[in-house]
Amino acid sequence: MDTNRTAKLEFAVQMSCGSCVNAVKSVLEKEPGVEAVHVDLAKEQVLVETALTSLQVQSLIESTGRRAVLKGMGGTETDLGAAVAMVSGAGLVQGVVRFLQLSQERCLIDGTIDGLTPGAHGLHVHELGDLTQDCRSCGDHFNPFRKQHGAPQDSERHVGDLGNITAGPDGRASFRLEDSQIKVWDVIGRSLVVDSGEDDLGRGNHLLSKITGNSGERLACGIIARSAGLFQNPKQICACDGVTLWEERDRPIAGKGRKVPDAPTANL
Ligand SMILES: [Zn+2]
Repeated sequence: MDTNRTAKLEFAVQMSCGSCVNAVKSVLEKEPGVEAVHVDLAKEQVLVETALTSLQVQSLIESTGRRAVLKGMGGTETDLGAAVAMVSGAGLVQGVVRFLQLSQERCLIDGTIDGLTPGAHGLHVHELGDLTQDCRSCGDHFNPFRKQHGAPQDSERHVGDLGNITAGPDGRASFRLEDSQIKVWDVIGRSLVVDSGEDDLGRGNHLLSKITGNSGERLACGIIARSAGLFQNPKQICACDGVTLWEERDRPIAGKGRKVPDAPTANL
């Protein structure tokens, strides 16, 4: 699948001097896959047009010794909408997956999920944004056209079928994929679920192959919610729990550790 379409990623980056700007620019500009870099020192803002994952760009910026927080994503065309799912479950699995509608036909899905067993895990948009019984109440794979389960590139597939993501030895799956059937406006309010096993893409012999891809139990899930496009998120402090933008980076996305106060950062 063509995954070379670029998106614009807006990061908040702690910068206090002109040399910081040069350091950030130079590390990004020499990286293949980065098309353009714009740094605004006064706003502590870095705008990167790239085909890399948000995690790759964040790691590059942070390799200069500064912290970076992704604040928004946008396409290169008109703003067609963006969404985000904060994925968590009963175990240690958690992550953030972003959806960005690049055009009427292409939806970019960029995410990082931690705490997985190494190897392939099925990833699907489910019909319902209902977590009242954890991931069990998310309903079936989102399937408005009443088709059989399949692979992302198949015409016979559920709209929600995103195939597999692969976790490395550290348990982290970081991915950037494009899909022709997912539309941001159709999936907001539904859920994203990552499964314990590999999705056989409808090609297995198991009874569940054409229903779920037989990808095992639901490990973690999150509701897909509308999110900020570029420059739509002016916040510096998260009013919800007092965690500042910079501190937020070190916190678990959900769960117990979220609200335990750390020592205050010296930068704010
Ligand atoms: Zn399916």
